[in-house]
This record gives sequence, structure tokens and C-alpha cells, in this order.
Amino acid sequence: HFVAKTFITVIETGVVSLLYRPPGKEKRMCGIVGAVGHDRCGSILLDALKRLEYRGYDSSGIVTLHEGQIDLRRAVGKLVNLEAALADQALPGSIGIGHTRWATHGGVSEDNAHPHVASDRVSIVHNGIIENHRKIRARLESAGHKFASDTDSEVLAHLFVEAFDAGLDAVAATRKILAEIEGAYAFAAMATDYPEQLIVARNASPLAVGIGEGACYIGSDAIALAHLTRKVIYLK
Ligand code: GLU
Repeated sequence: HFVAKTFITVIETGVVSLLYRPPGKEKRMCGIVGAVGHDRCGSILLDALKRLEYRGYDSSGIVTLHEGQIDLRRAVGKLVNLEAALADQALPGSIGIGHTRWATHGGVSEDNAHPHVASDRVSIVHNGIIENHRKIRARLESAGHKFASDTDSEVLAHLFVEAFDAGLDAVAATRKILAEIEGAYAFAAMATDYPEQLIVARNASPLAVGIGEGACYIGSDAIALAHLTRKVIYLK
């Protein structure tokens, strides 16, 4: 017996398409995770991503910040590939973010996998779609920003660089960016300008915040944080 959603589309008289989606895969939903204040960020973020595997994904990545340096690992395909990229050298640092991606803008490649980094200063992970990314990207490119991916998401990293260059702090920068972007999203950002601060925001995509002992966590789903804390709140 299957308990699942099925979708029937009538294509033309006498021809129908039957689409079956197993439970938990009704919608493509990538995963976001983050941690601040935990000294083994790299490994706990990998564990958190594993807990979100049920959502499906095509690539993944984790970035941490340690002594002013951004350390990024990404891999196409399953999380075992990311694990292999982490095995040679563990990611140092007590602040970090991670992502499992379902590509919407830009093909499946390591360059398009999240996290995205701009100017070696800001890294971001993003779930959803920035609808007005083309216009924002054109403006940023004409101001000299160099993009490294074909994703809609990368504009977020460059928008933070632009805001920090204009003298805004992390909160003011986030407010400015939220006023400019359109779409359904959840994102997390981390910057060398504010190395002890994790910035998170959401609009229509869920985001859970976990409160631990001397550390805080974020995840697209509370399940991602179950190994870290039981105190979880969903952002409104
Ligand atoms: N739109 C972004 C991309 O294609 C994020 C997709 C997702 O939610 O995984 O990279």
C-alpha cells in the first residue's frame, strides 16, 4: 500500500499523465543549516545536512570562517562526495553555514553549488528563488562585481559586500537587502566584516532556530537540529 500524493494531468482526450510523488518529496526543497559558537562546525553541519537528505538535492557545500579566512568545500552529487572533500582536512572555525541544493537557476555544477562567496568576504546559502536577480546582477556587474556562478542566489553575497562597503552594519545591510529582493526565500550569510555574527532571513520558506549551550543553530527544518538541541523555534 502506498500513501502518497498522485497528480493526474489530462494531456488530451484519452491521454493522461500520472505523476507519483513519495511522501516527503511533494515539493523540491533544499536544505539550509548553520551554526555559531560550536567549535566543530564543519562536522556538525555535515550531520545536520544528512538529516535533510530526505528532501532530495543535487549538490552540497559547507563554509566556515576561521581567523578571518573563509574555508569552502562543495561537491556535486551525494553528501558522501562532500564528506570526502572534508575528510582530507577538517573545516576549522566556530561559525559556518551549509546547503543541499535543488538547482533552479544555473546547471548542476560545483561552481553553482552553495555556499557562494563574494570578494573573499561574504558567504551565503539560499533556499528558494530571488525573482528579480537579473536586474540586481546587472547593476552589481556594472559596478564592478565579478560573479562566479549562474545562480540567482549569488546576488545576495554581492549585495552584502555592497552594503558593507557603504558603511552599513550587518542588521542595516540585511534590512536594505530585504527591501530590494523579491521572491520566496530563506538565506543565511556570514561575513569576515562581522566574524561572530550569523545573519538569517526568511520569506515564505521555513527556517528553524535552535538554541544550544553557548551556541545557536539554524536549519530549514527542526529535524536538522535534533542532534544539537531540543529548544527550537520557527521564525515567523
Ligand atoms: N535558486 C537557487 C539555485 O538554483 C537555490 C535553489 C535551492 O533552493 O536549492 O541555486
